[in-house]
Parts: sequence; structure tokens; C-alpha cells
Amino acid sequence: MESKSNSYGECSLSLSALRVKQLVVSYAIHSNFIQDMRAALPYEGGGVLLGRVHHGSSPVDTTFFAHRFFVLPNTLQSSTRFLADPIQTVAAVLGSSHVGETIIATVHSHPNADAFPSIRDVQEAFDYTIAHVIVGTVTSKITTNAFFYRRNPLGYSFHAIPLVFSNPIGK
Ligand SMILES: [Zn+2]
Repeated sequence: MESKSNSYGECSLSLSALRVKQLVVSYAIHSNFIQDMRAALPYEGGGVLLGRVHHGSSPVDTTFFAHRFFVLPNTLQSSTRFLADPIQTVAAVLGSSHVGETIIATVHSHPNADAFPSIRDVQEAFDYTIAHVIVGTVTSKITTNAFFYRRNPLGYSFHAIPLVFSNPIGK
């Protein structure tokens, strides 16, 4: 899935001035993973976004470009926890490295909660250098938020990062 380069060129220009991490996703990829999160109901659904990372001039000036979504089965079949199938996860990692991509974000849904991380989400994150997307399906209105998690000697924290759509609705 290719994004419109002029669109995210504008986004990275305006947002890099603020020196933030951001996640760029096309509407097509977004609707892909929303569909998979709906299909997983009543359980939590999940997967990974594969793509490329563009590092700016400072460590916090980083843009994650999603190229595609790779759905992963929830081995726990739970409405409150998600654990990705390990064999499928390895397949995602190997498949992405063959084409010069990496895992840039995890995605999982909250069928019974808002689109914000639980303490356990942050504590059990397998990687603190990538983004984490949460889809809230608790109401008929689907919400999607992106976060960065932090782990330090004082504990765990998270902060929201901009989720930037790389092409207009309907394209
Ligand atoms: Zn969660």
C-alpha cells in the first residue's frame, strides 16, 4: 500500500517542527484493521502495522509510515486480553524484513473499554521503541488512538502521538 507522498510530506513538515513522534496510516489500512477488530468481536483483536521508520533530526522527531496491516489471531480468545499467535508473529517479522520493512506499531482492540492503554498494556508491551495503536469498539462509534509507551525506574507511562491519515477519505 503506497501513500501519497505529497500528503505525508506536508504532515511531516508541519509536525516535525513540533518535534514529535507520529504515525502515518492511509485510510485504506485503517479500514483494514478496523474490519479485523470488528471480526474479532466479542474478543480483543490485534495485529501489527508493517512499514518504515523515518528518523528526523532529534530522537523524538520520528515518523512511522505504515505500509500494511498484518492481522494476528488472539490465542487467548479473551475480551480483556490479547496475546498474539507466536508463529504468525514470526511470519510477520520475517515477511516484512524480506521487503525492507519492520514492525512499526502494534494494534489491538478494546471491546469493553475506551481506546486508551491499560496499565497491563504498558507493562506487557513487547517493544518500547514502536508505536501502539488501540481501537475502542465499546460503543457503535469506533475510536482509534496511537501511543508511545515508556518504561523507566519509576514505573510505566504512556503518551498519545498523532495518528496522521496520509490520503483523503474516499481515495
Ligand atoms: Zn489493551
